Amino acid sequence: MAKQETVEHKYVYAFAEGNKDLKELLGGKGANLAEMTNLGLPVPPGFTITTEACKAYLATGEEPDGLADQIAAHLASLEQAMGKRLGDPEDPLLVSVRSGAKFSMPGMMETVLNVGLNDRSVQGLARQASGADEQTSGGADRFAWDSYRRLIQMFGKTVCEVPGEEFEHALDDAKRAKGTHDDLDLDADDLRGLVDAYKKIFFKHTGREFPQEPREQLDLAIRAVFESWNAERAVLYRRQERIPADLGTAVNVVAMVFGNLGPDSGTGVAFTRDPASGAQGIYGDYLANAQGEDVVAGIRNTVPLQELERLDKKSYDELLGIMARLEGHYKDLCDIEFTIERGKLWMLQTRVGKRTAAAAFVIAGQLVDEGLIDLDEALHRVNGAQLAQLMFPRFRLDHEFQPVAKGIGASPGAASGKVVFTSARAVELAAEGESVILVRRETNPDDLNGMIAAQGILTSRGGKTSHAAVVARGMGKTCVSGADEIEVNVPQRRFVVGGQTVVEGDVVSIDGTTGKVYLGEVPVMPSEVVQYFEGSLDPEHIDNPLVRAVHRIMSHADARRRLAVRTNADTGADAARARRFGAEGIGLCRTEHMFLGDRRELVERLILARDNTEREAALAALLPLQRADFEEIFREMDGMPVTVRLIDPPLHEFLPPLEQLAVNVAVAQERGEDVAQEEALLAAVRRMHEENPMLGLRGVRLGLVIPGLFAMQVRAIAEAAVTVTRSGAAARPEIMVPLVGAVQELETVRAEAEKIIAEVVGDSGVEVLIGTMIEVPRAALTAGQIAEAAQFFSFGTNDLTQMGWGFSRDDVEGAFFWRYLELGIFGISPFESIDRDGVGRLVRIAAEEGRAARPELKLGVCGEHGGDPESVHFFHEVGLDYVSCSPFRVPVARLEAGRAAVETNGSDSR
Ligand code: ADP
Ligand code: MG
Ligand code: MG
Repeated sequence: MAKQETVEHKYVYAFAEGNKDLKELLGGKGANLAEMTNLGLPVPPGFTITTEACKAYLATGEEPDGLADQIAAHLASLEQAMGKRLGDPEDPLLVSVRSGAKFSMPGMMETVLNVGLNDRSVQGLARQASGADEQTSGGADRFAWDSYRRLIQMFGKTVCEVPGEEFEHALDDAKRAKGTHDDLDLDADDLRGLVDAYKKIFFKHTGREFPQEPREQLDLAIRAVFESWNAERAVLYRRQERIPADLGTAVNVVAMVFGNLGPDSGTGVAFTRDPASGAQGIYGDYLANAQGEDVVAGIRNTVPLQELERLDKKSYDELLGIMARLEGHYKDLCDIEFTIERGKLWMLQTRVGKRTAAAAFVIAGQLVDEGLIDLDEALHRVNGAQLAQLMFPRFRLDHEFQPVAKGIGASPGAASGKVVFTSARAVELAAEGESVILVRRETNPDDLNGMIAAQGILTSRGGKTSHAAVVARGMGKTCVSGADEIEVNVPQRRFVVGGQTVVEGDVVSIDGTTGKVYLGEVPVMPSEVVQYFEGSLDPEHIDNPLVRAVHRIMSHADARRRLAVRTNADTGADAARARRFGAEGIGLCRTEHMFLGDRRELVERLILARDNTEREAALAALLPLQRADFEEIFREMDGMPVTVRLIDPPLHEFLPPLEQLAVNVAVAQERGEDVAQEEALLAAVRRMHEENPMLGLRGVRLGLVIPGLFAMQVRAIAEAAVTVTRSGAAARPEIMVPLVGAVQELETVRAEAEKIIAEVVGDSGVEVLIGTMIEVPRAALTAGQIAEAAQFFSFGTNDLTQMGWGFSRDDVEGAFFWRYLELGIFGISPFESIDRDGVGRLVRIAAEEGRAARPELKLGVCGEHGGDPESVHFFHEVGLDYVSCSPFRVPVARLEAGRAAVETNGSDSR
């Protein structure tokens, strides 16, 4: 073999070499820093190490060949651009080392600031900061030592796993010694002392001195960022957000700019619109004389960004100009991080910002109005999960409920639950099925488990951009942040508000829209969006930007979608509600409830019938009852198709449980009563007992075994349709046979049904379709044959999943799914979202072969998956005619069907 020329792989990109579309390679942060650089915005120079370098490192445990040299070359260019050398004792260049993956994972991974400082360069930094100005040298010393202590703290925690609290305690001690709560009161000497304390902590935990060599600091920090990809909390966050585990993170090395150089410096974060409501305006937090992480950590109280106008008008105006430009460029809400160093503005980050569900709709509508995007794009920018959130109930507040505190409505929703103060307790109680509200002073990434487990999150500190707020919004979880009337005492597991003490286990209610906090459980009512769907809010005439945006986008989804959306409804009331939500028919009307309640007695008679006469009498008594049920539903649906499933569950499910019967019989015998009826029932239950009822005598098998049962149902359907039609309305029944696995089963049922239908329908004009569910794998695999006897297929994806995987739905989810999820055997339960590769393949085969045999075959789906956003896209791709789902999911399915229709390949909506 010829010797191969080794082509050097490019692992490092200068900011000028990247752009916003390279997120996969450069991470979101790096790609957007590059984009801003190329827009000519003031970004400190730097470079990005690619996700590929990270993946290579994680795979082998060492930096890939060539990486060290490429870093050295880019560092040299950076040094040249800045006119300084990394860690130079006289005039040091300092850098930040920042993680940044393709998808934003706020606070999940690591950043180290001020890399390049050591015992000597800290002096140089101080000299440079004071410049010629003797007067500021005290401030300059303070700044340099503050920067150095931050480096040791971040480096220790991030790179060497020194417990962060140790540094925090040392800082608290220093403040206490000084008699202050504000770290700004610590002077240069205090901070020099703190550096010594930090170094001791560092030595105690690592057994080595804090590294003084700048390049070693840099290399170790880069490594730590690579490794933070696999940190426990990052893994958990990815699982929660369904971010693939194999993307890796990029690393950004950025020349430091300093917001902690004095009162004319500072740092802040901002959104181009309100990420909670979508309203236009200026939203952000600013903190003078601080480095970036102080803002998010809520260490000190920030001021609203508007204050900056007073503090530094020039920078403020420039910032507003840049924000407007970024929005126009990204055509979306952006969030940014910036720092002002002695009156000079620097941009440190931007991205398309996370937002609440309400803001997503409102902003998409606004951007259409502003001509930045079209309606297809607006539809693409919202999703069904967000719409589902907007349909959550709201608190119903009458005079008895007075808020005890008001914080910031950081992530909307109405949540009530028992108060807990630690993540661990939240997880524990949630596992017991309790609703909990996690109450903290502020959250940090270690609280993630608890935040996932909780119904809502309440913090006493931090703003809209605090960790709690950002993460809760991402998860769609209710959050009130910065409720500062609340005094949280975690060790004692209590908080005090307005003189009242609330202890662990007490119930509170929090409103993530208004930021209000209530003691006790507040009752709830339908949201505005539900009121709109229900028709009690007219979108054209109300002054509610959210309802107007939802109306507009839903209308567009309806105009675009190819899939029809039906509902699963068994009663007239359900049918009526679903129609208001936009259902275009019933895809699954279960008939089993028609055998419950006071009709049980008739079912018992049917089961216990000793001969045909008794059986027929029982069926004849059931007939008018069923007919009345169907009439009500047909009337409600007024000419829309109604798919009625013939009875599906095993009949013994309608009998009392064995133990109960046995006790009844024993007690009655004891009393010397007549127990013939009970004994007969008991015998029937014993006889009909099944080891695997899911695979037993049910569905079409019942119809073939119990004479007259299906016939009675078919007659009831046909007669109801005729009655409704004769009364001047319309009825379009579709009779669906469950659990068919072979065409012969269907043919047998069908032959009998057709006879009855012909007889009942006569010249009424009623047309009744006969079709089948495809829910047994064999049916999917012989769909070509089955289609000869079926006018429609409806995929019963619950059973198809159950039988396709061999998972007992009632048992597996609690038993071992957690392990399957942990191992990544699937990313989400296949009962929740269709398994495209396996069960989905069965659907695909059946759809193709069914249509090939009978081109006009109607195809739909009626499992839970019909209302699952991901699955709706799949059903669109496979070419089904409709999906059917529970009434509350109908709007979600309409929206997702519209999105599926406009979505172009490769776009992702995360
Ligand atoms: P995260 O992704 O958690 O926001 P970042 O990498 O953005 O982490 O950094 C944390 C903080 O440090 C941010 O506030 C950021 O603005 C600030 N920061 C990062 N790099 C620099 C730099 N070169 N100069 C000044 N501040 C910086
Ligand atoms: Mg950041
Ligand atoms: Mg089924």
